Amino acid sequence: MRIAVFSAKPYDERFLKAPAADAGHELVFFAERLTAATAILAADFDGVCVFVNDQVDAAVLRTLAKNGLRLLLLRCAGFNNVDLVAAEELGIGVRRVPAYSPYAVAEHALALILTLNRKTHRAFNRVREGNFSLEGLVGFDIHGSTAGFIGTGKIGCLTAEPLAAMGCRVLGYDPYPAESFSKIGKYTSLETLLAESDIISLHCPLTPATRHLINRETLKLTKTGVMIINTSRGGLINTEDLIEALKSGKVGYVGLDVYEQEADVFFEDLSGEIIQDDVLQRLVTFPNVLITSHQAFFTETAMRNITATTLENIEDFLAGRSSASEVKAKKS
Ligand code: NAD
Repeated sequence: MRIAVFSAKPYDERFLKAPAADAGHELVFFAERLTAATAILAADFDGVCVFVNDQVDAAVLRTLAKNGLRLLLLRCAGFNNVDLVAAEELGIGVRRVPAYSPYAVAEHALALILTLNRKTHRAFNRVREGNFSLEGLVGFDIHGSTAGFIGTGKIGCLTAEPLAAMGCRVLGYDPYPAESFSKIGKYTSLETLLAESDIISLHCPLTPATRHLINRETLKLTKTGVMIINTSRGGLINTEDLIEALKSGKVGYVGLDVYEQEADVFFEDLSGEIIQDDVLQRLVTFPNVLITSHQAFFTETAMRNITATTLENIEDFLAGRSSASEVKAKKS
């Protein structure tokens, strides 16, 4: 198959190109994001391969279908950026990588929690400048604190497990409770989780029901000084409400690997430019906010697994085989 790979970085090419060629597929890498303006680049291809910030709406899918494209490959788990109804109507198969390494994301969430708490990001800079003062670096014991998990699927459980092992009380909220989480922590209502947690970590998908789940009203229910961690999707948090809560001290720590408007900035080197996003720029000024640019997935293991599943997805598609990677619109 000939596949146009959008939002491609040198590391995508490094991991994907040779194994795909070995399997008899030609991958062509485009740095551009897939949008209505760039969809035309896929004109002579059988499939496209996209990532988290590509815009796969009905208009884009119509352009792709008009040019004979049959397969949309997501090299990620989330598919909130795809109009699945339009894809089905247009006869475009959609396949994703459901779990390339939940460990990678969970470990990154843990890194954000521990760094924010013990302020090692600040200590690193201080010591390099000859400042050995401890002023402002006081943390809290994770042991004995309470961590709440909104979404208790694969990544939620893997993040909860080590915290439980450290002596943390673990709470979970999920409309679909799972046995695996019940062994680690206790399910509660969302309200109880918000009220009792010192650390709140988001691990649910972005859907109309979860959009802006963290907002002015839900933040009123939290403890003062709560830590909020988001490695899931930016749209789960109303960022302006979060900034208000940081300014008032209601929220004490924020770790974000994802951000509502990340599509315009994340994955790019903008160090020589004037960044126009004032909300993001305000966020980075807080000493108690740690932002990474959607890198939680980014380990060697995960990249190799993304490649393997993407190639399997092509083979399954060509053989007309359905698999757990297939994504279909929910029937109402
Ligand atoms: P998963 O499907 O195993 O778990 C998601 C859980 O969320 C499920 O248990 C589901 O029941 C629950 N859920 C659904 N609606 C909910 C709601 N309204 N409130 C609370 N919980 C709800 O998925 P996963 O592999 O654990 O991934 C979780 C999320 O992590 C993905 O949706 C994706 O957006 C994100 N992710 C981020 C990165 C990254 O690099 N930052 C990488 C992979 C995945």
